[in-house]
Amino acid sequence: MRALRRCILQEDLAAHDASVRAVLAEGRDWEHEYRIRTASGRLKWINAKASRKVVRDAGQPGGITQVWTGVLTDITDRKHIEAELRSSEATYRTLFETVPQGLVYHDAQGRITSANPAAQRILGMDLAQMQGLTPVDPRWHAIHEDGSGFPGELHPAMVALRTGEPVHNVVMGVAVSDQGYRWLLVNAIPLFSNGQLDEVYASFEDITQRVLLARELRHQASTDALTGASNRRTLMDRLRIEFERVQRHPELHCSLLAIDLDNFKQVNDHHGHAAGDAVLRHVTQLMRQGTRQVDVVARSGGEEFSLLLPDTTGQAALALAERLRRRLEATPTSWGGLQIEVTASVGVSVMSGADISPDDVLARADQALYSAKNAGRNLVRSNLPASAATNIPTSPQSRR
Ligand code: GH3
Ligand code: MG
Ligand code: MG
Repeated sequence: MRALRRCILQEDLAAHDASVRAVLAEGRDWEHEYRIRTASGRLKWINAKASRKVVRDAGQPGGITQVWTGVLTDITDRKHIEAELRSSEATYRTLFETVPQGLVYHDAQGRITSANPAAQRILGMDLAQMQGLTPVDPRWHAIHEDGSGFPGELHPAMVALRTGEPVHNVVMGVAVSDQGYRWLLVNAIPLFSNGQLDEVYASFEDITQRVLLARELRHQASTDALTGASNRRTLMDRLRIEFERVQRHPELHCSLLAIDLDNFKQVNDHHGHAAGDAVLRHVTQLMRQGTRQVDVVARSGGEEFSLLLPDTTGQAALALAERLRRRLEATPTSWGGLQIEVTASVGVSVMSGADISPDDVLARADQALYSAKNAGRNLVRSNLPASAATNIPTSPQSRR
């Protein structure tokens, strides 16, 4: 016993002795943990347990004596594991509190049980507001990138709960009180204990800046900066899509208008380039007002525009072209106290299943536009198959 006591580390001795004294005084079993230095110099953790038995001993006063039996267990490994766990728990806590990603735990029913400070900041809610909410709660307003609704059942945490599989990199827009939509990149990991799925851990990154920038770049790449109309590239992309549709389904219609402002050079010459720019913006507005969401209003060149009209027959396109020509003629641009009048010539063509490429329909619209210019300007001319070209109200007389 003495030999063992000599091995105990100096700093653990006082506690050791105190616990022995207490046990002796109270007469109960003893258990204590302390460190020893072995003969080879190694540090070990020892768990010591001893229990007391009272036995008859005629040689002792009172005829009884106390016998202590005990076990020493080397618990060095357990102590190391505990220390590591404590340190990894502390590390995890620190990470949970400080990472820029939002971290949220959901219970097996999808209810939020905890959320780190980043999650609270990103979602604009405090923990108390979040706790107990599930992703299907009607208070959340979430959308996909295309603006369509994001049902709560499809939230990665709910999918992970249903399937038991992790879900990665889901982009989701979440309405955050009076700040519009925050864009999140969400992951969800199911957590099991004893083979039972009992928690989901969702992490998300705020990618709002990235999404808005990408949107802005896409917008810039597809539109004309002066007028906000689609640019030529967007027109060609849409034309290709419509061309393929008509190739697959020749019974469908798609028409195209080529519009060129008349004597536009004179507008610049008389009023200056800025006035010319104002006229181009005004014309774009007028074209927008007279068309549907699915139509493409494009500025295809300097003072040239195209109007792509899906699901529109040649007849309907001709009628629209005429209405547009009249509106342009009747609606001058207000600019610097001036009313600048401008007219346009319009060529109309319609896609055909027999076309070899989308350029064919563009070329026919340009030919029709050329005829309108040659016939005196401020006119609509068409280049339609004979069957579609009846009752065309495009002669100069028709506008009087
Ligand atoms: P036409 O009736 O034969 O089409 O005659 P036009 O004067 O409209 O045609 P032309 O091709 O001779 O001149 C087009 C003019 O459009 C010349 C150019 O300065 C002007 N233009 C092209 N792009 C812009 C622009 O972005 N802003 C302004 N203000 N003018 C532009
Ligand atoms: Mg012109
Ligand atoms: Mg031109």
